[in-house]
Amino acid sequence: MTSVGWLVAALAFGAGMLVGTLLLRRRAKQDVVARALVPHRTRQVIAALQSGAVIVRPDRRAAFSNHSAAALGIARPDGALHAGVADLAERAWRTGEVVEEEVEVRRGVLGAVIQVHVRVTPIDDELALAVANDNTEQRAAEATRREFAVNVSHELKTPIGALSLLAENVEDASDEPELVRQFAVKMRREARRLTKLIQEIIEISRLQGGESVLDHEEVDVVGVVHEAFEGARLAAENKRIELVADVRIRPLVLGDRDLLVMAVRNLVDNAIAYSDAGARVTASVTAKDESVSVAVLDQGIGIDTKDQERIFERFYRTDPARARETGGTGLGLSIVKHVALQHSGAVTVWSQPSVGSTFTITLPRYQESP
Ligand code: ADP
Repeated sequence: MTSVGWLVAALAFGAGMLVGTLLLRRRAKQDVVARALVPHRTRQVIAALQSGAVIVRPDRRAAFSNHSAAALGIARPDGALHAGVADLAERAWRTGEVVEEEVEVRRGVLGAVIQVHVRVTPIDDELALAVANDNTEQRAAEATRREFAVNVSHELKTPIGALSLLAENVEDASDEPELVRQFAVKMRREARRLTKLIQEIIEISRLQGGESVLDHEEVDVVGVVHEAFEGARLAAENKRIELVADVRIRPLVLGDRDLLVMAVRNLVDNAIAYSDAGARVTASVTAKDESVSVAVLDQGIGIDTKDQERIFERFYRTDPARARETGGTGLGLSIVKHVALQHSGAVTVWSQPSVGSTFTITLPRYQESP
């Protein structure tokens, strides 16, 4: 390197050191100012809070913030503050009142946008306290509940409408006993459908209400399959469908026996409903060291790949007209999914149109200690 080169390099190094030192000094000064503004005790309190908490300064920076604030993406330990929070703080100072609002925060460069609820209280001219919570899940749950209520009223309208129409028909045909009998049969069917729908709505609300399974008894999974078969026997006989239990071991799980019977029964009912007369429905129980699986296999109409992801959604039916014929409510699989989840398990489907379907519930195995 020439001497000029050395000189330039030395100057650049010197300048770099100078800038670094100045930055460190500035940071140290900021720290001193922040410490003076936010005493040690207050910091300890803020650090202990579960919510995101930030002490905001008028220069749109954070005098102090806790870990949760960083995790939520509203303030960094170096004092950088989310612009939305700074705006809220300015409004709080201007009005002298508590201000609260949802602030959008993007997680990472390509990350999801979350809605953070921020509440800013002006403390004095120099400081304001911002408390933040992630309400994304709560809002999604509220939206789901609202949508569920709308769906429920819509679904209830169908059988109720059918019943009142049939009642009108009976009135009109009061002189023709045969017609009246036919309408009565249809009314009974609609009433059954309504009862099933209401029972399932209650069941799914209970399962989704966050109530976890309370009954944690030892459950013999083979017994569950036999009881589900018992319940479905009449429907199977009506279609001459053979129910086969393929059970070679008797593993146990911990959970709510009635709920597990209901889940397997729903799968067996579907297997019967979506199979042709004379077909066969098999339920097999298998186990590994850690898990137990119940698979319900049919040779029925099968399910298109595009529908397979959605069939576990509430009220989703691949063919509403056919579901109406079979008395389907669109809630059965959703109940199965939630029963499995409540038992820390899962349900999966394999299916091919015109070949058949296999639904498998997998649950953690319970091993009695020797
Ligand atoms: P439903 O009461 O309508 O049967 P489910 O939630 O139990 O409601 O099932 C949702 C949809 O998934 C059904 O409408 C049907 O289209 C499809 N489905 C469920 N099980 C089967 C099966 N074994 N074979 C074919 N299709 C099925």
